[in-house]
Amino acid sequence: MQEHKTPHETSWLFIIIFMILATIFGWFIVYTSRGVELMYAETATIEQVRYDSSIQKFDLADSSSLHVPSLDVYGLNQSWMYVSEAAPLPKTYEPAELVDVTLPRADKEVPMKLRADVLKRLEQLFSVAKQDGNELMVSSAYRSISDQQELYDDFVRTRSEAVAKQYVLTPGTSEHHTGYAVDITDASVRCEQDSSECNLSPASATWLATNSPKYGFIVRYPSGKEPITGIAHEPWHFRYVGVVLAMQLTEADLALDEFIEQATPGRIR
Ligand code: ZN
Repeated sequence: MQEHKTPHETSWLFIIIFMILATIFGWFIVYTSRGVELMYAETATIEQVRYDSSIQKFDLADSSSLHVPSLDVYGLNQSWMYVSEAAPLPKTYEPAELVDVTLPRADKEVPMKLRADVLKRLEQLFSVAKQDGNELMVSSAYRSISDQQELYDDFVRTRSEAVAKQYVLTPGTSEHHTGYAVDITDASVRCEQDSSECNLSPASATWLATNSPKYGFIVRYPSGKEPITGIAHEPWHFRYVGVVLAMQLTEADLALDEFIEQATPGRIR
């Protein structure tokens, strides 16, 4: 019968407890520093992307962080996320952090939502536009995949499958599902009451194409890029991608698809 541990047994116990604690501590340090490193990589990458006009390519060679497999900067809740006919969203996709659009908007009785960071930038853009004499409104913002399905089915029912295919994007392939896309129109009372009455004048479209990149927006389906985007020029449809990328895409006259193809080859087809 042993009521008391010998000094020998006690020191072994201490060594074992010490080793367990050291392992936990070591694991904690490695895990957290990796998290910090990845967070930094994401920020650094988005700020550092640079277009080299001499070789007409984005300078991605040094951005090893773009290829960190566990951090997808083109992922489903990133401002560089890519949606197209070739890259549809999962049917269950829902964006994070949607907030109510408080700006002047079409169908004003119906709530409208966007991502919080996008709305903040859009408010700044609208305020500068107003100072320049362009009063703008939002004619469409976030649209769920099931909303798009209803719209599509409605076209099939009232017109035909062919018409639906021509005018309504297949559910899951619209950028409006992401909360990063917004349709912009000139402000008018008629548009405020009924979105089908909305219209963006050529003057406002030109102003927006020039000024929206300073707030992180691009004309997502530009004129002349139809073979690449697969979509006819939509001067009213703006996509938030962040200021750095928006400025560079606009200056280099590139569609988002061209950047995505360079950054992650094979993704746009
Ligand atoms: Zn749109």
